[in-house]
Amino acid sequence: MPTLRTLKALEREGLLTPDPRLAEAAQAMAIALTPEMLALIDRGDPGDPIARQFVPSAAETEVSPDELADPIGDEARSPVKGIVHRYPDRVLLKPLHVCPVYCRFCFRREKVGPGGEALSAAELEAALAYIHAHPEIWEVILTGGDPLMLAPRRLAELVAALDAIPHIGVIRIHSRVPIVDPGRMTDELIAALKPRRAALWFGVHCNHPRELAPSTRAALARLADAGIPLMGQTVLLAGINDDVETLDQLMRALVTARVKPYYLHHPDLVRGTGHFRLSVDRGQALMKALRGRLSGLAQPTYVLDVPGGHGKVPIGPAYLGDDPDALLIEDAFGEQHRYPR
Ligand code: SF4
Repeated sequence: MPTLRTLKALEREGLLTPDPRLAEAAQAMAIALTPEMLALIDRGDPGDPIARQFVPSAAETEVSPDELADPIGDEARSPVKGIVHRYPDRVLLKPLHVCPVYCRFCFRREKVGPGGEALSAAELEAALAYIHAHPEIWEVILTGGDPLMLAPRRLAELVAALDAIPHIGVIRIHSRVPIVDPGRMTDELIAALKPRRAALWFGVHCNHPRELAPSTRAALARLADAGIPLMGQTVLLAGINDDVETLDQLMRALVTARVKPYYLHHPDLVRGTGHFRLSVDRGQALMKALRGRLSGLAQPTYVLDVPGGHGKVPIGPAYLGDDPDALLIEDAFGEQHRYPR
């Protein structure tokens, strides 16, 4: 079965509740639901957490005044096309804006899509020249869109070009492909992720324990067996994973798939995504609950991307109380203890 890309195709699968606003939602962002994700959907559950991530909803047409077209300020920090230079020692490099699925809450929702801009050969050359010319850049994060949508040969060329820049120590890939289209993780694609000199780290975007189906676990095992360190990125989403049980299962499933949970992202102020957002207070309460249940290995850092391009900050719960004479420390089970300053 091919990837579903239209409202009609989703309707045929019984995944849509008819609503005149759906056409507007589909106009604002492309649709893509892979057969692997479709197979995980429970059609009997109207709030199914897999379906909600990829099937457009009428709520996407509701835009609040706080929401932004460029919620994390990529444009403000882009010195040349395809590069975002937010922190001195690292850049994002976005070779294309195509993805295997289109997540309705995406922080680059207004950029991604089949018609989304890809860098031309000359633009990619200019982006690489920028990295060459800035010896303070130590890490390059390939993102997009999904960089694994590049053909293996082009991906191998890009990794080799970055590897040839002596000051680059780390090449990081951010992708949803092993989760949503694990069949794409061929030996040829994995071989493209083997720089000779620099270290390559792989960030996997995964939001629900059900996403770690056997075929996905096998794809992640192939990456880990190839010696590629894996880390997990999860977006905290209302109605999808904003409960302790789901987050507990997700973090454990990631660790057993040899993926270290790295970030739990507070949802960004993306236009038309208010139905996915929850309060920071709620996110902190969830993190506190996880602290008492999961080992450090399974704990992600809860972060917020500060609107305007100011970068990520940890926003997890505080464990230190305010006392002039001693540190007041709350343990994982809510008990207070004093510790000398
Ligand atoms: S795969 Fe990533 S970039 Fe693509 S739509 Fe989903 S969140 Fe956005």
